[in-house]
Amino acid sequence: MADKVKDPICGMEIRPEDAAAKEEHEGRTFYFCSHGCHDTFVKDPHRYGHPAEEHGGHMHH
Ligand SMILES: [Zn+2]
Repeated sequence: MADKVKDPICGMEIRPEDAAAKEEHEGRTFYFCSHGCHDTFVKDPHRYGHPAEEHGGHMHH
């Protein structure tokens, strides 16, 4: 049952049950390895909440 998810801040793969924090953004749930990563996400969810592949690798500022 190793259904891992990716921490969008640091890229670390974690299990949801091991996550230090989670956050919902635009209908999706993100999991974080630490409260520090969670804080970073909450400050700027649009920067981290959309995986690069959804933008064709284009990084917008
Ligand atoms: Zn992290």
